[in-house]
This record gives sequence, C-alpha cells and structure tokens, in this order.
Amino acid sequence: MPRIFSGIQPSGELHIGNYLGAVKNWVTLQRQYESFICIVDYHAITVPYEAADLRQRTRDMAISLLAAGIDPSACTLFVQSMVPEHTELAWIFNTITPLGELERQTQFKEKAGRQESVAAGLLNYPVLQAADILLYKADMVPVGEDQVQHLELSREIARKWNSRFVPDAAPFFPEPKALLTPARRIMGLDGQAKMSKSLGNTVGLLEDPKDIWEKLRPAVTDPKRVRRTDPGTPEVCNIYHLHKAFSPAATVEHVAVQCSTAGWGCIDCKKVLFESMENELGPIRERAIEVRANANKLDEILGDGAAHARSIASATIREVKELMGLSATR
Ligand code: ATP
Ligand code: MG
Repeated sequence: MPRIFSGIQPSGELHIGNYLGAVKNWVTLQRQYESFICIVDYHAITVPYEAADLRQRTRDMAISLLAAGIDPSACTLFVQSMVPEHTELAWIFNTITPLGELERQTQFKEKAGRQESVAAGLLNYPVLQAADILLYKADMVPVGEDQVQHLELSREIARKWNSRFVPDAAPFFPEPKALLTPARRIMGLDGQAKMSKSLGNTVGLLEDPKDIWEKLRPAVTDPKRVRRTDPGTPEVCNIYHLHKAFSPAATVEHVAVQCSTAGWGCIDCKKVLFESMENELGPIRERAIEVRANANKLDEILGDGAAHARSIASATIREVKELMGLSATR
C-alpha cells in the first residue's frame, strides 16, 4: 500500500485553512493509504514561542485532529519530538542541502521578514521537513499549496542522497509527490494573505459560532462591490471560495447567480455560508468535547503512534548510517 506522510505545527489553533487544504484530505486518505500524521513540534520552535504553552498546544492540536476525523485505528498519529530519528536524519540531510536553495524558500523569506533575529532553524526548516517525509519513505504528501516549494526541495534532497550513497540503480528514498485539494490556498478573512496560524487571521476549526460570525460579518468580499446594488464577481471573492469548500454544489451555483446579479447583498451571502459552515463544524466541535474529556486515552493514542512511527524510523536510520559509513561498531 502506498504511504503518505503529512505534518502540522502546534503553532496555534487548527484553522479552516489547514482543515480544507490538508486535514480533510488526510481523513479521506487514511483508509486508502498507509498514513502517518505528525504534529511537528520541532518545526514550531523555529520561531519565538512560549515553552509553557507548547505542550498544551500540541495536545490541543491532537484533539482537533481527532475531532476532525483522524482515526488512530486507521493511521499513525504522533508527535515529532517523541521520535528522535527525525532530527538525526535532518542533520544528515543538512550536509547535502545547498544553502542557496534554503535561502530561496518563500516561507523562510516571509517568516524571517517578520523577525528581528532569525534562527538558523528557520532556514533549515525544509531540511527537517524532508527528513520527516523520507524517514517513512512516503510516496505522497497531502499538503496545502504553500508547501509545494518545500516538497520540491524534499524531492531534490532524496535524489541527491540516493545518487551519492546508493550503489545500485534502485533508489533508497522515493521522491515524494504533493497531493493538493481543490481548496489548496484559503485566504485570511482580511483578504490580504493566506490564512496562517502565525498571522492571527484565522477562523478556528473549534471556534465558537458567535465568534465565527463576528469574523465573517466584516470579512473582505469583492472590493469592486461597493454598493448593495453593484453586481459582484464571485471568483474574486474569498467568501465565494469558502462557499465552494463548505456549501453543497446547488448552493454554490445559487450564490454565484445571486452575487453576479446583485440579488443578494454580501451579508445575505455570508449568512448562507455561516449555515453551511455550522453544518460541517458543529459535529467536529461536539467530538472535540468528547476527545478532550479523556486525557488518558489521548496519551495512549500518542504513545502508540510514536512507538509505531519509531519502529519504522529507526530501521530507516540504521540503513542510512550503514550506507553512509556512520557508526564504528560492526
Ligand atoms: P504557521 O503560520 O505556523 O506556518 P500554518 O497555518 O501555515 O501555520 P502549518 O502547520 O504550517 O499551518 O501547515 C499545516 C498544513 O496546512 C500544511 O499542509 C499547509 O500547506 C496547510 N495550510 C496552511 N495554511 C493553509 C491555507 N491558508 N490554505 C490551505 N492550506 C493551508
Ligand atoms: Mg505554515
């Protein structure tokens, strides 16, 4: 069975961008592929953070993922720092990754631009990501569009390592391919940038409906639609794209007509979107309450996930070291 690997940072609450761009896909794919879903806390410490909060954020992320439909009996859910082989392989990959490639990465440039002092870990983030994926020899990586560039680098690292250290023709590491959803890039409600945990422009997956409506009401729509009577262009409106992700096809069609004929005002359109979102998010919120109530069960899920992940990761590392001439015992 082909393998997939994907990760999410416990850098804030799981938002609808993560959900539509990645997590929802994981839930569908977990029964078709051997799946590894990782809460990547070593990635989350590449920007300033509060140590006192991180463990809780990691647990909250696990709760949100389970509530969203990640099923530990169908896939392996684990926390990155509980499997030390990730950082071990990352170091190895650091030695073959061109510095120039890292400096070119859009995420690095964006995140570094927001900080006064930039840690080397932020630059090396995609190297650790390559290690995350290749440790499990994953064939496919379901991610949002913002991760496609990193994944291209993972492919390059796999190619480079294979050609340097594998004596025969069969590659040791497969070149992992990105799997995207139709909602590959959800914008923040301000319409300025992609929705990101670190930008504070998110709608949380478990957020209270009242708060969601407070965010939706003033959200940016088609900027050319100034008056209620102006017809809009659905394709340029973030709310329309959210309809495509949350509303049934017939509603999406109706929305497009009502917008482009000025039949509805933007608030009417947002009310319908809010209802569609509630239909999908309501049951997820309910499940989250149940999952949160059983802390021991959560420990067990994450402990079992790490043990299984580690059994595979340690085998890969053993073979990698062997091929690279590392470790002196015979
Ligand atoms: P941070 O701001 O800390 O980087 P993030 O919101 O970008 O957080 P990540 O943990 O970096 O979230 O990414 C988790 C997954 O969600 C990745 O597969 C990423 O591609 C996807 N993703 C993140 N933001 C969006 C978005 N706005 N639309 C679609 N997919 C997204
Ligand atoms: Mg991100």
